[in-house]
Amino acid sequence: MSVPTLNPGRSAAHVPGSGIREVVNAAMGREDVIHLEIGEPGARTPAHLVEAAHSAMGSSNRYTHSAGMPALRDAIARRLHRAYGLSAAEDDIVVGQGAVEALLATIVAVTDPGDEVLVPDPAWPNYEMQTLMRGAVPVRYPLRPENGFVPDMADISPLLGPRTKAIVVNSPSNPTGAVFSRAVMAELVEEAARAGVLVISDEVYDQIIFDGDHVCAAALNPEGVVSVFSFSKTYAMTGSRVGYLTGPRWLVPTIAKLQEPILSSVSTASQAAAIEALNGPQDFVATSLASYRDRRDLAHTLLADAGIAAPMPAGAFYMMVPLHQQADSRRAALDLIGHGVATAPGTAFGDVARHFLRISLAAARPDLEEGLARLAGWYHQTN
Ligand code: PLP
Repeated sequence: MSVPTLNPGRSAAHVPGSGIREVVNAAMGREDVIHLEIGEPGARTPAHLVEAAHSAMGSSNRYTHSAGMPALRDAIARRLHRAYGLSAAEDDIVVGQGAVEALLATIVAVTDPGDEVLVPDPAWPNYEMQTLMRGAVPVRYPLRPENGFVPDMADISPLLGPRTKAIVVNSPSNPTGAVFSRAVMAELVEEAARAGVLVISDEVYDQIIFDGDHVCAAALNPEGVVSVFSFSKTYAMTGSRVGYLTGPRWLVPTIAKLQEPILSSVSTASQAAAIEALNGPQDFVATSLASYRDRRDLAHTLLADAGIAAPMPAGAFYMMVPLHQQADSRRAALDLIGHGVATAPGTAFGDVARHFLRISLAAARPDLEEGLARLAGWYHQTN
């Protein structure tokens, strides 16, 4: 039988592979390598959350409302009011399969193919991948190291054009750990509103902040912002895949509608764990924050002692390690695996941070110490 050549669709084919995955694959199965490349809490999920998931699965393992269980959305509404003074009702909230799916549903809901989405550089790679798979066009705006990786409106304003539908912001930031001040976030939200552009604010690290307070973008302009949150990092439940968003009435019902064809509903057991996470004791959150702070301070001191001046992250659990200006961080990260430590190259996050490596502070303390000693040894051999 003669068959025509089959190909994937163009939008999907244009989605780049992950630059972090390349390092993960190269380091896989090597017991001599310390892993500082992955952004995931090492702690176990608190026992009362595991118990809630377990008993939900035993009692009612059925589909839920596609926008999320009412009891969960109610607990989220109360949390958003307590934390940020937001008055979101149950219908203003959508539960997603992790923040990653909530972000995808938002991008699909607000754009058409060919529209532009402004995406930070450096940024977590998924924003660009999601925009491309929708057939929309990611346009990068720089977060310059010399500006503390915080946006400058002078870089963003000229990029807001007739095809711009949304701008993605992420504070606290993965990969940089930068936290935007209220003034910066307010200026950005105002400028986007003037241009008729939706702000998609990824706030999954909102409870991992060392210096300053988290500014919830949706609280600044509920009509023009979708704020996205997650249980993954705060409660060490990355595998449960629960996140959520709140946004304006002109958009949230459309996002909620998309949950049906995308996933029908998020895992019932995971939603039960999420309800318990919000309604139960919060000591795990405070303990984790203290331990991330401890590891951040340790990493900063160890690098400084080795003569490497890393910018101090104000939130999230990452640190950017500067290389010399000619360094190719992709090659450096692959080379470093041979020296027993895996890191994420700045090139995985865009172009602006190509002379940096990202390390995760979520690694265990002894791993962080040994990994940084190896990194420092390599650094002085090659720099
Ligand atoms: N947003 C950022 C900035 C992240 O770093 C991550 C995970 O690494 C996510 C979203 C994904 O969160 P979730 O596990 O809720 O999908």
